[in-house]
Amino acid sequence: MTFEYAPAPESRSIVSIKPKYGHFINGSFVAGKKHFPTINPATEEILSHIALGGASDVDKAVMAAQKAYTKTWSKLSGKERGKYLYRIARILQERAREFAVLETLDNGKPIRETRDIDIPLVAAHFFYHAGWADKLDYAGLGHSPKAYGVAGQIIPWNFPLLMLAWKVAPALATGNTVVLKPAETTSLTALLFAEVCQQAELPDGVVNIVTGDGSTGSAIVNHPGIHKIAFTGSTEVGKKIARAIASTDKKATLELGGKGANIVFDDAPVDETVEGIVNGIFFNQGHVCCAGSRLIVQESIAEEIIEKLKVRMAKIRVGDPLDKNTDLGAINSKEQLIKIKELSAIGDAEGAERWSPQCNLSNKGFWFAPTVFTGVTQANRIAQEEIFGPVLSVLTFRTPQEAMDKANNTPFGLSAGIWSEKGSRIFWASQHLKAGVIWANTFNKFDPASPFGGYKESGWGREGGKHGLAAYLKNGKETGAK
Ligand code: NDP
Repeated sequence: MTFEYAPAPESRSIVSIKPKYGHFINGSFVAGKKHFPTINPATEEILSHIALGGASDVDKAVMAAQKAYTKTWSKLSGKERGKYLYRIARILQERAREFAVLETLDNGKPIRETRDIDIPLVAAHFFYHAGWADKLDYAGLGHSPKAYGVAGQIIPWNFPLLMLAWKVAPALATGNTVVLKPAETTSLTALLFAEVCQQAELPDGVVNIVTGDGSTGSAIVNHPGIHKIAFTGSTEVGKKIARAIASTDKKATLELGGKGANIVFDDAPVDETVEGIVNGIFFNQGHVCCAGSRLIVQESIAEEIIEKLKVRMAKIRVGDPLDKNTDLGAINSKEQLIKIKELSAIGDAEGAERWSPQCNLSNKGFWFAPTVFTGVTQANRIAQEEIFGPVLSVLTFRTPQEAMDKANNTPFGLSAGIWSEKGSRIFWASQHLKAGVIWANTFNKFDPASPFGGYKESGWGREGGKHGLAAYLKNGKETGAK
């Protein structure tokens, strides 16, 4: 006998969305000239209109950030900066429900994730970095490390507020000021964060938020007043940024794409592994740069794992992101849905076998059922390219060395997972994997103290932990970043 889940919708009455937003420059909201709509991807309802920032808006924001850096922020002690970060962290906790509902409305991800993962991690990032602000001189970050000045920060749509926290918290802790551009489809929580900066009485101009599209991001990258760039997004745009700053003295960290290998050895605990595979690829609709999007499973247990995985996938609840029972929400945009559909069709054409559970997907909004492709070969595009959706490609191996070779055989090197009961096997595999983050018997676990970043086309430098702080300091001894 199975029980149906009754609807359990979270109320959206806690958020109040303005019909139109401007930019946040020098501590105030300033009107934009042109605007574009931002929609709820689960319903296609227009939520608000966001200002499209041009070069002059970016220029004003950089001037405000420079002035704030020279006149105020660089003059404060680390202890005083830390107090502001603590204050921001506490306000974020107090307003957590408001942020969670707004993020779910604007992004399409389930409330269960925004409430239990995104927003708590956002607050944790500010708390963690608040603790560092007065200890930079004693942390092995070089002699008396100094801030760069103004940091230009460009973030994607998959974890909108969390990516803001990954960028803003270390920048402020290390004494930099900020001009940040959120992604076009998910600006609302960044604009609510601007209100938090006002509420925390952060000095004017320390955080500036200019909304817009790729051209706005490009104006930030190319502005001569920016000394450090922090970018998270596609490898394609990351390469453009690398080219744009190649002949300048701008420093940069780039967090780019991935095609994470989730490797399952024959001694892995089957039920826990299946749960880890589901979490690895279906968390956040698979819109995760470090997703375990390639399952590389030992041939002798492949059949059992796939069979159990399908049973588990049939229990994934796809639907209203505001419903507290929902596991898989909406795809963030029409463009992203088209990309997922195109790459999945390529998987079919290349001869892989597609399977999805029966799902009742709404006609309104952007939806894609959880999907697994078996019989995938290394040459297939679905084994090489980032799909950035709820689509898993399964490959098999016979020897541990074959697993390593297959895992490393992509242009990326961001994340990997190892499932085995043997500690020695886990250590051996982790030494052979070219991935910046490796999880053992778990997947998609994040902590502000843990550095995050990739090899090869997955990017430059690290964010988080002491490594992430170093990337914002002139004498910071960080490796990998420009
Ligand atoms: P982008 O890399 O285009 O977007 C990331 C951010 O960069 C956004 O704020 C974007 O603005 C901005 N941007 C776009 N062009 C430029 C530019 N020339 N200079 C500076 N900033 C720029 O990712 P998309 O949103 O287009 O997604 C495309 C693909 O990228 C996805 O399908 C996925 O595969 C991958 N991706 C990977 C992410 C990761 O975390 N590794 C995150 C997001 C996407 P705007 O939003 O206005 O375009």
